[in-house]
Amino acid sequence: MSEFEQPAPDFTNQEIKEILLRHYGLIATVAMLVGERDQNVMVTADDGARYVMKIANVAENAAILTLQNDLFRHLASAAPDLSMALLYPALDGQDLVQIPTKVEQGFHLVRMMTYVDGILLADTDRSQQQNFNIGQYLGGLSKALAGFGSPAAFRPGFLWSLDNAASVGRFANDIADAENRQLVERAFERYTSLVQPKLGQLRKSVLYQDANDNNIIMCPEDPDKVAAVIDFGDVAYGCTINELAIALAYMLMDVGDLYGTARAVITGYTARFPLLAEELEILFDLVAMRLVMSVCISSNRARDFPDNDYLTISQQPAFDLLRKLDSLNSDFLSCFARECGAFDAVETYPQVINWLNNNQQAFKSVVGFDIQSSSRILVPMTAGSPGTEFILDQQQYAEWLDAGMDRSGAKFALGAYMEDRSCYVMEQFNSVAGESRSVHLGIDLFTAAATTVHAPMDGVVVSVQNNDAALDYGPTVILQHQAGANGPVFYTLYGHLSLQTLDIVAAGQNINAGDIIGTLGDITVNGGWAPHLHFQIMTTMLGQHGNFNGACEPAVANVWRLITPDPNLVLGLAHESFNQDIVSPAELVKSRAEILGPSYSLSYDKPLKIVRGQGAYLFDHSGRQYLDCVNNICHVGHCHPRVVQAIADQASLLNTNTRYLHETILDYSDRLLATLPDHLEVVYFVCTGSEANELALRMAKVFTERRDIITLDWGYHGNTSALIDVSPYKFNRNGGKGKKDHIHIAELPEANSSKPLDHYLTSVQNCILSAQEHSSQEHSAGDGPAAMIAESISGCGGQVILPEGYLQKAFELVQAAGGVCIADEVQVGFGRTGKGMWSFAAQSAKPDIVTMGKPMGNGHPIAAVVTTRKIADAFANGMEYFNSFGGNPVSMAAASATLDVVGYARDHAVLLSTDGPKNTVIKIKPPMVISLRDADRLIAVVRRALEKLMS
Ligand code: PMP
Repeated sequence: MSEFEQPAPDFTNQEIKEILLRHYGLIATVAMLVGERDQNVMVTADDGARYVMKIANVAENAAILTLQNDLFRHLASAAPDLSMALLYPALDGQDLVQIPTKVEQGFHLVRMMTYVDGILLADTDRSQQQNFNIGQYLGGLSKALAGFGSPAAFRPGFLWSLDNAASVGRFANDIADAENRQLVERAFERYTSLVQPKLGQLRKSVLYQDANDNNIIMCPEDPDKVAAVIDFGDVAYGCTINELAIALAYMLMDVGDLYGTARAVITGYTARFPLLAEELEILFDLVAMRLVMSVCISSNRARDFPDNDYLTISQQPAFDLLRKLDSLNSDFLSCFARECGAFDAVETYPQVINWLNNNQQAFKSVVGFDIQSSSRILVPMTAGSPGTEFILDQQQYAEWLDAGMDRSGAKFALGAYMEDRSCYVMEQFNSVAGESRSVHLGIDLFTAAATTVHAPMDGVVVSVQNNDAALDYGPTVILQHQAGANGPVFYTLYGHLSLQTLDIVAAGQNINAGDIIGTLGDITVNGGWAPHLHFQIMTTMLGQHGNFNGACEPAVANVWRLITPDPNLVLGLAHESFNQDIVSPAELVKSRAEILGPSYSLSYDKPLKIVRGQGAYLFDHSGRQYLDCVNNICHVGHCHPRVVQAIADQASLLNTNTRYLHETILDYSDRLLATLPDHLEVVYFVCTGSEANELALRMAKVFTERRDIITLDWGYHGNTSALIDVSPYKFNRNGGKGKKDHIHIAELPEANSSKPLDHYLTSVQNCILSAQEHSSQEHSAGDGPAAMIAESISGCGGQVILPEGYLQKAFELVQAAGGVCIADEVQVGFGRTGKGMWSFAAQSAKPDIVTMGKPMGNGHPIAAVVTTRKIADAFANGMEYFNSFGGNPVSMAAASATLDVVGYARDHAVLLSTDGPKNTVIKIKPPMVISLRDADRLIAVVRRALEKLMS
């Protein structure tokens, strides 16, 4: 006979008092405690000390009780910090006492334990801290028991061993309710096919396996702290993971916050006793199996002992929890348990993310237009966000959204990933786990119905399915991809498509990046939503087919984040796209007009608020990406990391002026001079191109002791008074006061002009003559031009390439007349034309002074003047040259790093050359990091614009 078929002993108070006196020498009062198969007695000795007497069932195996006693003694030494009841030996020193039975042959074994003062867990207010502490306590117990062994712990047929779960299958028929019975049968099916085969490989140890809320005693002074666990009747050897599974089965009954409670217990447990991934993966299946065992055994007991309430007391909550677990995705629960146990929720996640990050440049747009560079608005759907008042009436929502998109000229509207859409109050988003599924797992692209949807990368169609329930996805395409040749597979989902989509692709079909895989559906077919694409990435299908969770409970959002990573890994939208801009461009325009000088100009009818630059791109406040083809300053790309780092490093170390010694200025000057002809050997540093030209003019005047200047028509050389005077582009246009008498304008020559070179050289010669004439009238000392200043390619003149040899000959004429020749390389220097570092060199010109700036520091204000020793010596006439900022160590670091990158880029042939067509000139001056792909894009845009102009 097993102990299950014997009723619990029922000694009277008087009989127990006699036992206490005889075997323990105690005079005591007694009170009965509950027990399923043993008689448990609360003992209070006359000295106030309290004990629990446990009178074993007559059928109890002495070896099992000895096993428990051995275990108590092991714990007392192996885990002294684990609060526990202690054995109280009898007068003869034994841990076990034999008491004859009252009715038949045999005896009961009696043990005494110290009483642990406390409150039953069942009688406390529950908290997550308490759950965590219980997990931690049990982790400590498992850790201590890992070092314990006893032959008696092998209980192969023991009914309550979770490893023997299959053996209670025979009781399933005792479950009266058909639905409950089916629930149990489903759990058995899953267990036998998926879980049982894995058990053989798992770690084993001696287990307590009875952490229920009547066996966990909490401290009276702090009910969140465990004082002890009691009732070691189920101790047996088995899979180590069973301990936590059994505890969870009890801890999760009747709780509202299933995930929060489970997380607290698991993280507490694993903090003390780390679990293996394969253990965590089956944890919730074992929880379900423990519940199945409870209801099976209690249903069977209930049949044989209809009066014993204790047997059925936990049946209802057990069925309720079983039903919840049954309705949750068990693969998700495995991911959840892995994550709680500090593993990646999905094993392949890091590889997939890595591959997506490395390949993002190659992905195609998921819709029929380029989303990076299209105008957009962000539509938040968090509590109280504008528009959410219409969320339950999607027709109205769609109208509200369209109006908003029209107002800002947006091509699409963006719904964010991981956004808590508390507006999702529809019943479809309810969850059995407590909270509603309000956290969005995809990215929404709201745009016109019928917009084509494209595969961003190669893949295979897994499913094309119409999920036509209200508020579902409607027609849905799921693709499978591979993260590299030997990499893991992952999936992408496209929801809310059109019925037509069902005919566009079919399951099993191979898809190439860019292929059309569907079109967007309208509200009548797409689940009842404003037209949009729900795009999502999945690292696992969680055993599902044709559909996948698009929203999750907030409590487990951090697990879902690892199952369905950020779709922007594929979309590649600038991060600004997901931030609501605080200060709008319109507000900035207004305050700018109030505060800044009115002669500042703004580009474009709708001025741009540019917030970030990277390489050849600029990004506005809404994350819209622009290919920057008008910036010749950020020469090696916006915010080039090497330049940024050099500036940051030097700025955090020192920034002073040139009155102190510093190597960088000299190293840089050496490198710069090495790129220039030998006769140019002295360097001056300034902060702007204007300053450089201003200094160059001063030098020329000091050197020649003249003041007349020859300049090319349409030239622009800077914003100072003296430079406006030499810039026909300024003085002959809006607000200009015309040419001054000491300025002489040479005709701007053009490479493809029908006029001969001599025609233009004659124009220079005429300037020399008029300078001589003018200077002799005005100055006793002067007898000709002080200087000729010229760009080697005329920028403001319209990127005009000078006829071959023009600059060489023009400079020679001026030099022969005693003038100094200044090559203004501010715009075209540093390799910007793609033909060598300096444009004057392409003209074989031999300037006396070269000025440079703009691209020199990749956006950092630094410029320079380089000249001959002779001019430099003449300029050193006693007056000090000082510049507060020019040549400071930070500027020099910026210039040095830029030069490093220019050198590197040239070696890798990434420079592009430009050619100026006749008369009608489109200025193209992108950072030199522009890619071929972007150059193609630029050409396509220009072509479209030109075609539009022509039509
Ligand atoms: N020279 C040329 C040829 C220029 O294009 C410019 C600026 N557009 C300057 C000088 C003046 O440089 P900065 O604006 O740095 O003063």
